[in-house]
Amino acid sequence: MVSYIALGSNIKDRERYLKEAARELEKQSKVLAFSSLYETEPVGYANQDWFLNAVVQIETKLTLQELLSFVLEIEQKLKRVRTIENGPRTIDLDILFYEDEILAKENLVVPHPRLHERAFVLVPLCEIAPQLTHPVVKKSVSNILEDLPQKEEVRLYKKDWL
Ligand code: ADP
Ligand code: MG
Repeated sequence: MVSYIALGSNIKDRERYLKEAARELEKQSKVLAFSSLYETEPVGYANQDWFLNAVVQIETKLTLQELLSFVLEIEQKLKRVRTIENGPRTIDLDILFYEDEILAKENLVVPHPRLHERAFVLVPLCEIAPQLTHPVVKKSVSNILEDLPQKEEVRLYKKDWL
């Protein structure tokens, strides 16, 4: 099954967290493509550091539920590296798409419910899969990005990182 995962971190060493998360993903999947790293303005809470974001395309045998458990495990594992209570998050892993599946459960919503309004997800996603069609919005992700009324700042940070 082909799935797209968004990775984000705003704690030092951000790049290392993204690399480690991608390495962990490789234990249960094959990374088919990965975007560049982007440095992005925090959305919502302004008083925190800028994020590094990326999107990877994977091939996996895991079911969607298993994939969720797996990414949550990776988050837990990497969070253990530091233990600042209520501190900013070391790593966030979001399942954007899983084939064309549409699912809305309490603990799992796919396609990710906020991906179509977040430039920090859409910019890296469009780099690796511009023609991918969102099964709910029914537009390509590049059209969704074009039509975004407000875009937070997303700067290219590094091309080859994995
Ligand atoms: P956010 O990523 O929206 O900032 P969190 O990472 O704190 O928020 O949310 C984690 C919870 O979101 C997980 O416990 C998981 O059950 C739920 N969740 C729902 N849909 C998804 C998805 N598509 N990918 C990852 N987590 C999801
Ligand atoms: Mg998340």
